[in-house]
Amino acid sequence: MKAKEQIKSLKAYKPGKPIEEVKKELGLETITKLASNENPFGCADAVKDAVMDELERVSIYPDGYAAEIRTKLSEYLGVKPGQILFGNGSDEVIEMFCRTYLSPESNTIMATPTFPQYKHNSIIEGAEIIEVPLLDNGKHDLDQMYQAIDDHTKIIWLCSPNNPTGTYITEKELVSFLKKVPSDIIVACDEAYREYVVAEDYPDTVELQKEYTNLIIFRTFSKAFGLASLRIGYGVAHEDLMGVVDPVREPFNTSRVAQRAAITALEHLEFIETCRVKNREGMASYESFCKQFNLDYFPSQGNFILIDFKTIQGDEIFDYLLRKGFIVRSGNALGYLTSVRITVGSQDQNDSIINCLSEWLVQKGVTKNVATSINE
Ligand SMILES: *Cc1c(COP(=O)(O)O)cnc(C)c1O
Repeated sequence: MKAKEQIKSLKAYKPGKPIEEVKKELGLETITKLASNENPFGCADAVKDAVMDELERVSIYPDGYAAEIRTKLSEYLGVKPGQILFGNGSDEVIEMFCRTYLSPESNTIMATPTFPQYKHNSIIEGAEIIEVPLLDNGKHDLDQMYQAIDDHTKIIWLCSPNNPTGTYITEKELVSFLKKVPSDIIVACDEAYREYVVAEDYPDTVELQKEYTNLIIFRTFSKAFGLASLRIGYGVAHEDLMGVVDPVREPFNTSRVAQRAAITALEHLEFIETCRVKNREGMASYESFCKQFNLDYFPSQGNFILIDFKTIQGDEIFDYLLRKGFIVRSGNALGYLTSVRITVGSQDQNDSIINCLSEWLVQKGVTKNVATSINE
């Protein structure tokens, strides 16, 4: 049996070792996972109650159209219900757009390093992948991305804040890009971390969509809303465009429990507001740690920070932290060899990982920046 040629180059997603296994192997009592940008504060309490209640109806198929959450979300966003497409996580929305628009005759443009699912799904459709390296400051090189457009270009992927750098595209940068890009090419803006953003010049993409009908937005309930395991995310686009993609969707692609949890999450926005504030406080701790040891980092608007340890390999930092009971993401897997990406956790979690790293760096003879330690 012969699979499609392009599938051969793919690797199955390799999840990290299960926490329980790592604990046993290393004889650790607790393990703190700061590797997947999950919300360290879980989700709103009311969501847990709603999920429990919905369990009464798990034998009944969900509403495939997701009418109730659709209405709720359309009011929250200020868009028409028909502009929304729900997915089994925003991962599935990315997949549905690839299935709809990409083929071996087309190409698709994305940054590198960025979120891997754009490339993964584009390869499955056989499209040509055009990767444009990020600038040295970790931002998208929008000029080069524009230059890469040709007659076969179908989708341009923008990730803002970008995973793994946390950098974002400003309103001005996005608008000048949208003005240039031909209107028959989709500009897909992945805003998985939108709820964490505090930058004032971050674009209001929902508003911009009114003028640029080729702009589509991906968002998710997985990150700030804390529903990663329930798998619900969504796309927002012009109604006509969504009408084209919607038939690709599987009939019951989001579960009853996920829909109910998302509805309840939108009724408790104070939860994500608190998380946003705590995230910024945690981010400040990591930034001052970096300054203390003269480590480079990209200013991040997400709930994670990519720290460059310069002389130490990402895998070595990963191994050290694992033995101390922390799981982070090694930069070796992300295209930044001497970095690790750490999810901003609770204050306790941040303090303890920073303490561990500080001790280790001092042991290794990495000198502390005198000026900042005096100011402490
Ligand atoms: C986590 C993440 C997603 C995927 O989110 P799901 O909704 O859980 O599928 C999408 N894009 C980026 C940039 C992410 O970091």
